[in-house]
Amino acid sequence: MNRRLSALDNITLISNSDAHSPSKLGREANIFDTEVSYMSMTGALKTGKGFSGTIEFFPEEGKYHYDGHRACDVCFSPEETIRYNYLCPVCGRKLTVGVMHRVQKLADREEDFRQEAPLDYYSIIPLDEIISETIGVGPKSKAVGKIHSGLLDDLGNEFKILLDTPVADIERAGSHRLAEAVSMVRDHKVHIAPGYDGEYGKIRIFGKIARKTIKGQERLF
Ligand SMILES: [Zn+2]
Repeated sequence: MNRRLSALDNITLISNSDAHSPSKLGREANIFDTEVSYMSMTGALKTGKGFSGTIEFFPEEGKYHYDGHRACDVCFSPEETIRYNYLCPVCGRKLTVGVMHRVQKLADREEDFRQEAPLDYYSIIPLDEIISETIGVGPKSKAVGKIHSGLLDDLGNEFKILLDTPVADIERAGSHRLAEAVSMVRDHKVHIAPGYDGEYGKIRIFGKIARKTIKGQERLF
């Protein structure tokens, strides 16, 4: 999203977690290929040399990614909002405009713009949420917790499992479905209903989800 604005080309973008709870520490991260020292790390941030990018959530999960009205079940892309003249088709009041809309306004590059440089961000879904989808129970359940800690024991830390571990090893330590799910997340082959007007976005690996547009009418996204 940031790279669509060419004025930011010389800026090193970093990504940091909130610190709400221990299990969520480090869910977003910066990747340094330097010594772990103040001088080396600030040097990498200033020059980009030794800074390999960021690990992040899918931005669509944010509560204000798209535009809309939560109470009216209206979720619009920036283009749809403009077509409706910034007014909610249900209640007639002004729509809450989200982050993507601002990006669209500022951008001097097309949506499908890709950097020539190698990818400098990695989008992830937390491992407990991925496991949860493969076995069909909640991410905070005991069953998910057991598989999660087993995988950490067998394969190492969560970032490694999500980004680097060979799929065959994940299949061996977990299941075929889990290996399939991790590789789909790596390829960004996930279904996303963007967040809007304070409503979190929803991400599913298997199966489609509906994005609400107008009350009573849902369309597959
Ligand atoms: Zn409304």
